[in-house]
Amino acid sequence: MSPSHTVHHLGCGTMCPHGGRLISGEGSALGKARIVCHCLLVEGSDGLILIDTGFGLDDMRNTRKLGLIFDTLFRPQARESETAIEQVRALGHSPEDVRQILATHLDVDHAGGLPDFPGAQVHVLAAELKAALKPSWRERERYVGVHWAHGPKWVEHGTEGEDWFGFQSVRVLPGIEPEIVLVPLLGHTRGHTGVAVKQGERWLLHCGDAFFHRGEMQTPPSCPPVLKGFQNINSAENGKRRENAERLRELALREAGQVELFCAHDPVMLERLQAGG
Ligand SMILES: [Zn+2]
Repeated sequence: MSPSHTVHHLGCGTMCPHGGRLISGEGSALGKARIVCHCLLVEGSDGLILIDTGFGLDDMRNTRKLGLIFDTLFRPQARESETAIEQVRALGHSPEDVRQILATHLDVDHAGGLPDFPGAQVHVLAAELKAALKPSWRERERYVGVHWAHGPKWVEHGTEGEDWFGFQSVRVLPGIEPEIVLVPLLGHTRGHTGVAVKQGERWLLHCGDAFFHRGEMQTPPSCPPVLKGFQNINSAENGKRRENAERLRELALREAGQVELFCAHDPVMLERLQAGG
């Protein structure tokens, strides 16, 4: 029997933009919405594995470091206790136990915790690292260079691999349990990927920002208007993003018993999974 590997669902950051129901689908249009940064901490056979990092300690000490536009529009809440490093400590681990980080992408709200784990290997798609290190003018606002000023131990990966429920999958941690694969989902950024973690006979799929709201995975799909507009404007390759969101919706419908999928920013999905599904 294989040992069980605990997977923690962590909210590593909270944003409270104005726009209420137009963003979250609930409450008044004039209220504040709540957006989370859903990360996974996996207790693996060779140390801890962190999937996405949310905001870091330095970001929480001065949210302006995340960029004036981002700080003003998304209103990240300065809560050091929500950072991955503080939650790793609260679970009784040392930050040095985090040996591997898998990043769905390197946007400001996903890569902020990288400097808190300078000893970890950081797995990303090669196209994402290229975009983050040499952003085009359109991409400048989304990446914040201070998140990799410490010189992370990058491990770059391509997008080709084995079939995974009709998607490509790239095995990144050979020999380590549980099985974890990258599932490239390009579009939101140039090198955006999902990350799938095997749990018993089932898989958990962290879809990053491949979609933003749980309604997008329902049939028929729906999405609050501001979130829908934001995704259309903010995507590096919007056609690919839309195509991948549609493929994910079909996957959610077809493999409901096999694959549990969720996105980074939906608080309802985070709370449901924290409560055990
Ligand atoms: Zn995001």
